[in-house]
Amino acid sequence: VEKLLQKHKLKVTPAREAILKLFSYDCKPLSAEDIAQRFTNKQINLVTVYRTLATFEKAGILKQVDLRKDAISYELTNHHHHHIVCVRCGIMETFELCGIGKISKDVLKHSKQFKEVKEHSLELFGVCRTCTKR
Ligand SMILES: [Zn+2]
Ligand SMILES: [Zn+2]
Ligand SMILES: [Zn+2]
Repeated sequence: VEKLLQKHKLKVTPAREAILKLFSYDCKPLSAEDIAQRFTNKQINLVTVYRTLATFEKAGILKQVDLRKDAISYELTNHHHHHIVCVRCGIMETFELCGIGKISKDVLKHSKQFKEVKEHSLELFGVCRTCTKR
């Protein structure tokens, strides 16, 4: 965690360290509220969490993930993957299969205005096996 902060030229503070640790332990998308709830001692409040998340996002350590929940979730950028979410019960799986590289090339080939694709997000929304049976 410390090294990751240093690599992105960010000052190591207790709040930054603690929040980044949560992400590396959990390996799942977390919203600002999720994070604030973990710190019940109030040393790290919601305002601090929002500010820290914004800093991490700007530095490229975290990215936003839109899982169609009330709040935006964030996760580490270091491992490329996507999500599939059950629209009924909310369970989530991740997958690494990614065909976006090829699609991007085709999109660029046909685009009049775009020259380059920098990043992408892809989340699938479906119904899980358990919910299908219900
Ligand atoms: Zn993920
Ligand atoms: Zn389900
Ligand atoms: Zn991808």
